[in-house]
Amino acid sequence: MRGEKFAIGIDVGSTAVKLVLISGDRKVAHFAVEPTDPRISEQASRLIREAREKAGEEVPVVATGYGRKLVREKAREVTEISCHARGAFHFLGREGTLIDIGGQDSKVISVGEGGTVLDFVMNDKCAAGTGKFLENAAVRLRLSVEEMGDIAAGTREEVSISSTCTVFAESEIVSLIAQGTDVPSIVRGLHRALVKRVVAMARTLTVAPPVMLSGGVAKNRGIQQILSEEVGLEVLIPEDPQITGAVGAALFGLDT
Ligand code: ADP
Repeated sequence: MRGEKFAIGIDVGSTAVKLVLISGDRKVAHFAVEPTDPRISEQASRLIREAREKAGEEVPVVATGYGRKLVREKAREVTEISCHARGAFHFLGREGTLIDIGGQDSKVISVGEGGTVLDFVMNDKCAAGTGKFLENAAVRLRLSVEEMGDIAAGTREEVSISSTCTVFAESEIVSLIAQGTDVPSIVRGLHRALVKRVVAMARTLTVAPPVMLSGGVAKNRGIQQILSEEVGLEVLIPEDPQITGAVGAALFGLDT
């Protein structure tokens, strides 16, 4: 691989660190996804070293995500909003409305020509409407988040979860189980609650089709299905939605 042009994008999220090595012809040559370690600088250095071993010591690094300032090797920082928009446009080639649902935040971005940002809205204050909502519920239900997504997609039965707050939703789960409500309908109801929260945020912008979905939670089949129902539009998802921001960052790296 050495001798070719490459760039590294690293997206240091609150839940997961994503690194992408991209070649001059804009193909993903290598990527890594790991849970975020409290020693972020060391973790980022190790991942960057591994990528540079493949492509060369001088490969530039663009950092994004909430921990981007802690990436010592960065040549440049770019906001998550710009990186997600650019990454989604790279994979899907469409302007429209991008919904990104991460571990502890969610954002809605109006994507314009070439993957530029026309407008955006973000929630990083409340766990409802983020992956954390399903992670907490999964613990209560003794399921993995992956299982939750498949259960939600595999049933049509559903109870309405009235609590928008993550903490109250957990108590609601406990009382629904005590009343004998079956788990799949609780799980689907939880997915609906998360999606409704995000869609309400999206509706504060003009939701121009198509709707695109990125972030780790975009891998959840239940979320994909219910989002499409709630917006009444087709939902497009990049091949690996969790690395969208890192790909965007790497593409900014190729510009430099
Ligand atoms: P951040 O950038 O905020 O760290 P990510 O976009 O990396 O977040 O997404 C992390 C979230 O994605 C977590 O809440 C995690 O539970 C969820 N997630 C990751 N993989 C899956 C999967 N296969 N199914 C459902 N949820 C997933």
